[in-house]
Amino acid sequence: MDPRRALPSVERILGQLDGLPHELLADAARDAITAARAAIDSGASPTEADVLADAQARVGAMWTRELQPVVNATGVLLHTNLGRAPIGVEALAAAASIGRGASNLEFRLDTGTRGSRHDHAGRLLARAVGAEAGLVVNNNAAAVLLALGALARGREVVVSRGELVEIGGGFRVPEIMAESGCTLIEVGTTNRTRRADYELAVTDATALLLKVHASNYRMIGFTETTEVSALAELGPTVMVDAGSGLLDETTPWLPSRPSWLHDEPGVRQAIDAGADVVTFSGDKLLGGPQAGVIVGRADLLATIAKHPLARAMRADKMTLAALQQVALVYLSGDASSIPLWRMATTSLDELRRRAERIAAGVSGAKVVETEAVAGGGSLPGLTIPSVGVAVRPPKPAAAMDALRAYGVIARTESDLVVCDLRSVDPADDTVVAAALASL
Ligand SMILES: *Cc1c(COP(=O)(O)O)cnc(C)c1O
Repeated sequence: MDPRRALPSVERILGQLDGLPHELLADAARDAITAARAAIDSGASPTEADVLADAQARVGAMWTRELQPVVNATGVLLHTNLGRAPIGVEALAAAASIGRGASNLEFRLDTGTRGSRHDHAGRLLARAVGAEAGLVVNNNAAAVLLALGALARGREVVVSRGELVEIGGGFRVPEIMAESGCTLIEVGTTNRTRRADYELAVTDATALLLKVHASNYRMIGFTETTEVSALAELGPTVMVDAGSGLLDETTPWLPSRPSWLHDEPGVRQAIDAGADVVTFSGDKLLGGPQAGVIVGRADLLATIAKHPLARAMRADKMTLAALQQVALVYLSGDASSIPLWRMATTSLDELRRRAERIAAGVSGAKVVETEAVAGGGSLPGLTIPSVGVAVRPPKPAAAMDALRAYGVIARTESDLVVCDLRSVDPADDTVVAAALASL
């Protein structure tokens, strides 16, 4: 008999699968049977149990690809691949309450007339940094593209050669410039750009002087950059892409300024120094949802808001609700409810206590001093002292796979597998412990 005829039917396999919608289970069953047929053609003789096991593995693989929570034990606080900043429960509750029903998203409750979606989070974030106006779009890449397109299309934008950076994911300043229809005027050199370089480049065709925070790399040695305050004296509109969204470099929302922030520039300081427009991300050092925030002069913000791209890039109501909550927290002067700042400022003693508790239940585990990083393309080369739990498995790669089966993403350091606790929510310590114990 043809061994293919002995293979189970799709229905028979399907009857023993669960956990996903029927359509997806049927895909897995069909694929497993197709694979079994191919195996028979090449001389193997899979049994019904083999086909079922293969189908179950395919269902498992499908489930693995669904968007789901994981535990970030990498020590990279803003891990772009892991969703950057965690959003606080208050901000999530705000998003849920606005998402659930109707809201005054673009409606004025005082007059009963049409309002603007920029009147909520955008206005509050502007207030938090001392700017006249603000608006929120999908992410900072969109914010930069929109601001350039609205303020400088068909005209010249002057940028230092030291700031023609690639932020990652293909976001390159020269390409964004071309995409927004501006002419890039490069000034200075890679390592040094002086005020006079900008001054010489300014003509009647100049629309903007653009300063891009080189978030993800750091130049040391014989370097010179020109401050926002010096650019502001030159005449043209000054735009700053601040990237990380550190609202104020003095961190008035924390009891003390963390030293690892080093010289990370603040949005408020750029505004104070005379920047006309500043853009930044919502999900980096701001600690909120993915968003791009533009703050600055009211007349420029009005021009930006009217541009057709503003409509194409606008933030949705749940993002705006979460971001409004984040803005209110900053305005309250106490950011302890923002998970990013909570993680970043947890004391080493507290991390050590948690690590010891986890290590106690895992044979061969050690508590180790580690170095966490901010990540998300911010604060390159700067580390945050941290504590982790380390094991030395025979095969680190296999151990990483096993941890991932628990949803725990760790990191390897030579032959050690380390779970860095600075990026882990304490509520997830039990998951980390169980995952490590399974090794
Ligand atoms: C991160 C970053 C961007 C891109 O921001 P997204 O919110 O990821 O789109 C742009 N410019 C700078 C300077 C950045 O640091």
